[in-house]
Parts: sequence; structure tokens; C-alpha cells
Amino acid sequence: MNDSEKSRPVVGRFAPTPSGRLHLGNLMCAMLAWLSVRSRGGKFLLRVEDLDAARCAGMKDNTAYLLDDMAFLGIDYDGEVLYQSERSDIYAGYVQTLTEKGLIYPCYCSRAELHAASAPHLSDNTPIYDRRCLLRAQRGEAPPVGRRPALRVMVPDEKIGFFDTVYGYYEEYLPRDCSDFVVRRSDGVHAYQLAVVVDDGLSGVTEVLRGNDLVFSTPRQIFLQRTLGFDTPDYCHIPLLTDAEGRRLSKRDGDGCMETVRARYKDGRAVIGALAAALCLLPEPQSISLPELLPYFDIKKIPRDSVKLPEGF
Ligand code: GLU
Repeated sequence: MNDSEKSRPVVGRFAPTPSGRLHLGNLMCAMLAWLSVRSRGGKFLLRVEDLDAARCAGMKDNTAYLLDDMAFLGIDYDGEVLYQSERSDIYAGYVQTLTEKGLIYPCYCSRAELHAASAPHLSDNTPIYDRRCLLRAQRGEAPPVGRRPALRVMVPDEKIGFFDTVYGYYEEYLPRDCSDFVVRRSDGVHAYQLAVVVDDGLSGVTEVLRGNDLVFSTPRQIFLQRTLGFDTPDYCHIPLLTDAEGRRLSKRDGDGCMETVRARYKDGRAVIGALAAALCLLPEPQSISLPELLPYFDIKKIPRDSVKLPEGF
């Protein structure tokens, strides 16, 4: 434990997006985030990232499944569940702060226009923005009529890097690797990148443990934290759970689907034990509860590249 950990209580969180029923890979993340903070006597928060709840009708049902699947595995949390769908006014306040700092501009580009440009793409296939709406406004050109703009934040001419406990060092040169990104979509829904920073900041989160598909979002988030006056948490980006051939689990194939898992395993402890073995926390699968697993937890044991779905799932 270093000095800063002694002085600040550890606060972790699980922040799933219930756009479908969560699979075992998501719950593995929750389990590790829980173990990491509870092994240091920390608090564990649950936040449902249902920003798009109005458009995705299934989110309520998926959230109910999520809470039930967490209870099945014995993953408890502190305090009330936070729902992003109820926090739009708070996010709007932070967009206002960015606006007052002169960092926000409207972007009228449609998805088709963005994809038509032969720009390089981010890992999630979003094109790296060429600032065309900013340049247009600077030339004094009028915006297109009848279109509602998205809002983009201007990134600084800077490299932002961080040491990740599991992934190692990662950095991006923001203008080249990410460019100005959307903080509020044209339909008025705030973007994940903004909401995650505001919510982690306001909840006092000190450690973010999540899947390593989000490593590439982290420099952007650190930029927003610095700009909005929040501390940067520690990061642990863990490998994704894959099938036996090393392919990322897909909801379509039903691999790791919790419905199937629960039809087969009536006791959550068997599932925890199997995941713990896949994560190299235990030498072999056994039935074990999360509190019983605490003495075996060591983030350094987690494989860096991939974690294969345990046999029988
Ligand atoms: N809501 C995101 C997801 O389900 C995770 C966000 C985060 O942990 O920062 O992929």
C-alpha cells in the first residue's frame, strides 16, 4: 500500500451498459473490481450506464437481470445504484463548464458524412474527426439549416499517457490519435466519455477496473478529468473473456450467456471458482464464495492477454 492509498479510501465501481443481458465476461469484470477494492477494505459502487434508455427499450429488463445475476454471484455493492438516465442535468452543467472554457463547438456532420471522409478510425471504428465544422465556423460560413448539432470538445495539442496496473503504459497524442470528440450527441444524449468522467469524479472513484477494450478511451477521459478538476483514478484494464479458440465472446453465439450459465449452475460459488481458475487466482476450479476468494486475490496474477472461458460454460 503506498502513501496515497493510506490517505484516501479506495473506491471502485462496476459501470455496465445494459444494452443487452450481460454475459459472463461483464460479470468477471465486476468480480475483479469487487475483489480489488474489497481486498483493501474499500467501497464498491454500482452505476448503470443507461444513457440511451429512452431509445433502448430493453434496458430496464436487462438491468433487472444484471442485479439478479450479481446477487447470484454474491457481488454486493455500497449505497444506491446510480442511473445515468437520471443525471442529464448534471452532465449538462459540465458541458456548460467546457463551453465557458471555450472548448466546445457544434458539429453538424452526419454519420454518413463522417464515414465517407477517408480519415483514420479509432479502435471502435469512429472516424478521427478532421475538425471541418470548426474550420467552417472559423471561416465565417453559416451552419446547415434544419440540422441539430452534436457538441464536440477540442482536444489540446498534447500527449496524454498513464501507467495501467495490468496493461502497462499507454499514451496517445490527442490531435492525431483521437481528435475532438463528441460530448453531447445531436439527439441531446450525453456521451459516455463525458458521463463516465463526471460520475467517477463526483462519486470519488479512486480505481477503475474494466475491460481492456476501453484502454483507448482513457487518455480522452484523463484530459476531461484535468479540464473539469477531477482526480485521475488508478486504472486496471483487464483482458476480455474469450471462447476456447480465443475469440471475443459474442452475444449472438450465446457463449457465456448468463441464462445458459444459470441453467447449468445452480450455485454461484461454482461459477466464481471456475472464473477464478481461468484468471489464475486458483490452481483449479472449486466452489468458493467471493469473500473466501479474497486471500487468493492478487492483481499481478491476472493474465495480460486473454482469459479463456472455463470448460463447461
Ligand atoms: N459502460 C461501459 C461498458 O459497459 C463501461 C464503462 C467503464 O467501465 O468505464 O462497456
